[in-house]
Amino acid sequence: MKVAIFPGSFDPLTLGHLDLIRRGSLLFDRLAVAVMINTSKEPIFTVEERVAQIKEAVAQADLDNVSVITADELTVSLMNKIGADYLLRGLRNFNDFQYERDIAAMNQHLDDEIETIFMMANPNYQHLSSSLLKEVARFGGDISAYLPGNINEQLSEKLRGN
Ligand code: ADP
Repeated sequence: MKVAIFPGSFDPLTLGHLDLIRRGSLLFDRLAVAVMINTSKEPIFTVEERVAQIKEAVAQADLDNVSVITADELTVSLMNKIGADYLLRGLRNFNDFQYERDIAAMNQHLDDEIETIFMMANPNYQHLSSSLLKEVARFGGDISAYLPGNINEQLSEKLRGN
């Protein structure tokens, strides 16, 4: 059984992330999307909100072998707990490459039995990041083409409330 984890902040999940989840779900028997606590980022959505949003988006996309979890620990510790051997990450550009190479090397140092698998971002979504979408949404730009419907609505609501 090939079990993989796709960890990230997902604040919020974009269609770029969802594309990677869909492709990963075809490659692995089980894929766990893990909302991780990133201490260097100030999130707009709580972890609970993000988990609920991703669960709904995954259900809408009919991805039966995908689960959504959260953890406040090292990714490799979480992987050992849930029996995952593969760590899925996405690459959009050179910046991602350099950043991801360092993380992969560190994870390899922490546990040399896990394998990081990189997938190139879908060219339609290569320019997307959660922070860029939040920035555009804050100033009223239409980003509905880049977010699952439920998340687009919740982002508008959240920004109206603020
Ligand atoms: P983190 O804080 O861990 O970088 P992110 O939510 O920003 O969390 O990203 C999680 C993963 O998704 C990373 O591997 C990132 O490169 C990838 N990713 C982000 N945006 C996209 C996209 N538009 N297409 C494909 N992969 C993406």
